[in-house]
Order: sequence, then C-alpha cells, then structure tokens
Amino acid sequence: MNAASVRMVTRSRSLGSGSRQRAVGEEAAPLQRGEAAAERRKSHSCVRRQQKAQRLNVAYEASDGEKGENTEPLRAPGWEPQDWRQQLANIRTMRSGKDAPVDQLGAEHCYDPSAPPKNKVKYIKQTSAILQQRYDGDIPASVAELVALPGVGPKMAHLAMAVAWGTVSGIAVDTHVHRIANRLRWTKKTTKSPEETRTALEEWLPRELWREINGLLVGFGQQTCLPVRPRCQACLNRALCPAAQGL
Ligand code: SF4
Repeated sequence: MNAASVRMVTRSRSLGSGSRQRAVGEEAAPLQRGEAAAERRKSHSCVRRQQKAQRLNVAYEASDGEKGENTEPLRAPGWEPQDWRQQLANIRTMRSGKDAPVDQLGAEHCYDPSAPPKNKVKYIKQTSAILQQRYDGDIPASVAELVALPGVGPKMAHLAMAVAWGTVSGIAVDTHVHRIANRLRWTKKTTKSPEETRTALEEWLPRELWREINGLLVGFGQQTCLPVRPRCQACLNRALCPAAQGL
C-alpha cells in the first residue's frame, strides 16, 4: 500500500460513518440538549481520528516522492561504547608523533636476528615454498587462503589484505588491540581472545576506521597503555578510562 492510498483510506474514515449529510438548502434544526452532547462527542471523536490518521500518514510518507525510492531504511541505533569518540581522538593526539616501534617497522625488518627463530624461520620457509608453487611467487588475495598458510593467523591475514591488496577485510587484532579494547570497554562484554575482540569491535566500530585502528592501538600499547603498569598518569584518557583506577 502506498502513501496515497493510505491517505485516501484515512481521509474517508475521518468523515465519520454516522454523519447524515444534509440536502442542499436544508436548514439545520436546533439541537436538543442530549443531541448537542452527542454531537460534541462525535466531533471530538472525529478530531481524534483525524489526528491519528495524520500520525499514521507520517510513517508512510516518503521524503522524495510517493514510492520512497532512494530512501535509506530506518535503523535502530546499535550499541556503542560510551565516550569512544573522545577516547579515540585522545589516542590520535598521543600517537601524533608516530614514534612508536610499530611505526618504524617495515618489510625491510622482516629478518630480525633477535627474534625467537624456531617457528618463524620454519613458517617463512614453508610459506615461501607454497607461494612459489601455488601463487606464482605472489600472495593469495583472500583471508581464507592467507590463514591457510603456515604461521598466518587472522590478524596477519587482515593486515596483508589491507596493505597488499588495499582491501579492508576485517580489524587486525593483536594482544595490544585486545588488551586496550577491553580496558576502554570497547567490547560489549569482556572478551577472552583477540578473535573474540575482533568480532566484538566489528559489531559497532565504523568500517572506515577498521584499517587505522590496528597501528593506532599497537603504538599506544607500546608507549602508554603498557601490558603491565600502564602509564595512566601520562594518558589523556585517564579521566575517561574505566580501567585507569586500580592500575
Ligand atoms: S588510562 Fe591507563 S589503562 Fe586507560 S587507556 Fe590510558 S594508559 Fe590505558
């Protein structure tokens, strides 16, 4: 049913089914006391029906024409953390120097002689062989194929999709992002793993922020919101952070 038909129905109802129409030229007879009261009740009832009809019409009214094409469906506001916009703005300010370890790392630092060598070396060798054999020396372009490579988890897969393919497939969540999201109550309930945190963040965080959030929070976790003894006194979020007390 379109808005026009709704209005037609409600208008015809608002005329009142019990009203008798007078013939042209017919004089209105003076109302007796009981009749006058009944007429007033009818009149009030009619006004209430008209008001109700007007309210109903609003729900069907389209902003750009009767068909309502190109209008966005109304969406109920979902859950989002309190103060998250201000907290994010504060983290951006604290990270404006771009001087955290994460800001200095690039592909040229892949070979890290101080890194625990055991599994990383093994995974790099295995993955290199697979990439040569199956992907012509390139890397796969889907999260499913990336996580199938030895030693590649969801965090690295989403990072690779963003950096290598320019596709934002999900939020890359490591231990820093996981810890800070829970301290700031950016998850609806406490999460137990980075994957759980990723799902919880993706439920409310606007998609245009998914790519930025990893580097921002990793550096923040390296410099200020440390795993042990975070530097709350130096943190711009200390007044807004539920975890600042008692740390
Ligand atoms: S106040 Fe402390 S716990 Fe909260 S975000 Fe800042 S550094 Fe982290």
